[in-house]
Amino acid sequence: MGASELLQHLRGAGLILTVTAAGALHVAPREALTDHHRTVIRSQRDDLLLALLAEVEPRPTPPPTRRSGNPLMTPEQGDECHAGGWDAAEIDAFRRRQARFMRMGRTADDADHLAERLSLRDRQHDDRRLCLECAALADNGRCRAAARGRLPGADRLLKPVPTLMQRCPDFALSLGLT
Ligand code: SF4
Repeated sequence: MGASELLQHLRGAGLILTVTAAGALHVAPREALTDHHRTVIRSQRDDLLLALLAEVEPRPTPPPTRRSGNPLMTPEQGDECHAGGWDAAEIDAFRRRQARFMRMGRTADDADHLAERLSLRDRQHDDRRLCLECAALADNGRCRAAARGRLPGADRLLKPVPTLMQRCPDFALSLGLT
């Protein structure tokens, strides 16, 4: 079931889904939530967020020319990032990342900038990743892999810098991202 259909299905079951100011998904009333609802919501959380954001505030397709003001890129990198315009896959990846980053507590602007920087990373075939893209990054900012002792030498309470591009041996792509 696609996110839009799922959204309608959940609404049909009496649930109200909203996006909080921090970019998280909120579902109410709790007493109407079944275990099945919880499972499907958890598995498609980012897609539901995208569907809700599209309803509330349709985000413009990034223009095919450089967008100014991204502090994470030089003007030249901005040009490279948008050269020739973005194809459908690039736009989809951008939106999914943007939704994920907002869900992880980033502001809309910050999420935009990070997602745009990753579009350039993809074009450059750079294989480094952000912890923000990793399924092991918990909502409290700690690394679950480190907590389980899977990162040799790392503190079990490791709170990695989530926006640092790096190569981590335990990186696992978060659901819904590419
Ligand atoms: S496993 Fe690696 S990439 Fe994933 S959150 Fe931990 S430190 Fe970051």
